[in-house]
Amino acid sequence: MMTKKQIVPAVVLALCGVDIVYGFIRALSGNEGMPIALIIAAPAILVGPFAWRRLRAAFMVGLLLVPTALSAQSASTWDVFAVRYGALPAFRVSGLIAGADTSRRIDAALTMWLLRGPGGRTVLVDAGFKRADLIARWKPIDYMRPDSAIARAGVKAGDITDLIITHIHWDHFDGADLFPNARIWIQREEVEHHIDAAGTVLDRAIDAPDAAMLAALRSAGRLQLVDGDAREIIPGITVYIGGKHTYQSQYAGVRTGQGVVVLASDNVYLYENLDRHVPIAQTLDPVSNLAAQDRMRTIAVSPRFIIPGHDPLVFQRFPTVMPGVVQIR
Ligand SMILES: [Zn+2]
Repeated sequence: MMTKKQIVPAVVLALCGVDIVYGFIRALSGNEGMPIALIIAAPAILVGPFAWRRLRAAFMVGLLLVPTALSAQSASTWDVFAVRYGALPAFRVSGLIAGADTSRRIDAALTMWLLRGPGGRTVLVDAGFKRADLIARWKPIDYMRPDSAIARAGVKAGDITDLIITHIHWDHFDGADLFPNARIWIQREEVEHHIDAAGTVLDRAIDAPDAAMLAALRSAGRLQLVDGDAREIIPGITVYIGGKHTYQSQYAGVRTGQGVVVLASDNVYLYENLDRHVPIAQTLDPVSNLAAQDRMRTIAVSPRFIIPGHDPLVFQRFPTVMPGVVQIR
């Protein structure tokens, strides 16, 4: 029989057993560092007032609990918010919807998506833009710097643990270095197609300052390069290859309490793309763009939960939780 004195360290060791194996699996899958239990377990084993046989038994109980821990991981759900950081006024719809009437204009929303999940993990999908020359050139209305825009939702720039970049265009990538602690998830081919080892522009979808920033982030070890389609990069968040908006654009499927939300970003510019089944105006391959849209319908829990990249209607269709912030629910 264990005495009262021995139960506490035995429980601690059991928890360590869970954490070590669970953490090791997460480390192997590239999601986490090594488990903190490795640090806790060592002194517990050294000072624990009980026999090695009991220690081993407690650890084995911990190992048996791993499947429970893993199923808890796979059930991770996220709260999803669309954050508006400005708009591009009177933008030509024909630049968004293939074949649209050239006289039509829209105030195209500038949007990022904020995901709040288990364990304080806070993910941003796309980073907006902040460079003065881009602001001067595009003259956005209601513009807020991306880090200020997310502050309205109570999130500081340093709180962002992960940043998913859907593609390297300035209005989605230029703000990336505003988030100092974020791991930056981007498709490997998106990076390798647009810059060389020195950060030289290889495709003018990215401009020289953003190319230099991308190279600097790569050198600093900040990039998590994603290899291809349907990758669950974070529990509950899976990225998919988009419809060639850029060379290797991607979009995200996010598990929420109501089912999977698809953050299409610019692989779908407006709801009109989905409603009329027409490709975006800027794609390297309109056929693949329509195929991506069709596939999003199979991923999202309902068509309502496919969120386009620049549609101001997103901020009318979903409930406002703060000025400029709606929750996708
Ligand atoms: Zn865009």
